[in-house]
Amino acid sequence: MDGGIKIGTIWGIPIRLHGSWFIIFFLVSWSLASGYLPQQYPQLSVPALWLLGALTSLLFAISVVLHELGHSYFALRERVPVRSVTLFIFGGVAHIGKEPSSAGAEFRIAIAGPLTSFFLAGFFGLLWLLDRPLPYLAAPSEWLARINLTLAVFNLIPGFPLDGGRVLRAVIWRLSNDPFKATRWASISGQLVAFGFIGWGIFSIFGGNFFNGLWLIFIGWFLQNAAASTYAQTSMQHALRGVRVSQVMNHNAPIISPDMLVGDLIEQRVLNGGQRAFLVTGCGRENLCGVVTLREMGALPQNRWYTTPVGDVMVPYERLVLVSPDAPLLDALQKMDDADVAQMPVVQGNMVLGILTRDQILRYLRVRAEIGV
Ligand SMILES: [Zn+2]
Repeated sequence: MDGGIKIGTIWGIPIRLHGSWFIIFFLVSWSLASGYLPQQYPQLSVPALWLLGALTSLLFAISVVLHELGHSYFALRERVPVRSVTLFIFGGVAHIGKEPSSAGAEFRIAIAGPLTSFFLAGFFGLLWLLDRPLPYLAAPSEWLARINLTLAVFNLIPGFPLDGGRVLRAVIWRLSNDPFKATRWASISGQLVAFGFIGWGIFSIFGGNFFNGLWLIFIGWFLQNAAASTYAQTSMQHALRGVRVSQVMNHNAPIISPDMLVGDLIEQRVLNGGQRAFLVTGCGRENLCGVVTLREMGALPQNRWYTTPVGDVMVPYERLVLVSPDAPLLDALQKMDDADVAQMPVVQGNMVLGILTRDQILRYLRVRAEIGV
């Protein structure tokens, strides 16, 4: 769900449409134009029904975006970055850049979405009452009031990653003072809810309601995946708690000079040495000129390998994300995620001590898992 077309920016947050959203947009428009609306307005022509259906479906999509912006508004207030809001087949998602810092913040961010949907349900309900004498506005308003109410209630089901699961997480966090335990329980309840949906879906299919059943199974499957991956992530965070960068980093990081040709580096150290990230030293502060990885080397056309020095393709010192050896490994991992890099030079004072890579962290986790600590 990272991809999709950017359709606008609100509060600096890109709003995106994932390709799968068009499926739900079509299904909702179709069900409105062929089921709900003709019952209300039998006099309307088919094209008019489709137009009204598509407009209502669009207002529904806007309602979903507003729900996500409700989360986003409180996230930004709590200084939690929001990377994007994306509409996709199962609704919307606000990509939150990091974990909220307190149970209270988590609670406010989580509850803001359903509250927005309740507010929208009230708004469309009011519109329905006010517009009853006006033609062609009452039925869409009534449907939008109902769907927003459904959205609010559905999202309050206490299973992660639903908003209710986040509320549950905030409550356990507050009571136990342990965010890891809270995530663990919220994701376990999320998996139970997900299996509940799948079971309900199977039951519906055998009851003759094939499409509803299939839809429930899809939703359950999606929720199960999200809850399980959160569980895995929490276990990892739990394992890394208390570990410092210096315990995991590579102290003997490969060092090269900025004058080395990219072709020589690839031939001598990458293809024959299996190394992926290099510290470029011999200039500037901390003796560090920059870092060069497979990513930068791969971006250089092959016919320039033997004419281009490493210094021309490396990520220069000014753009490097640095970490101290005493930093908690979890903070370092977060920093890597934020900067979207796979490695960070480790520096202290005016000295570069080595490099920390994602691979090392994974290897460290694997070793710990194998020896059972
Ligand atoms: Zn939500």
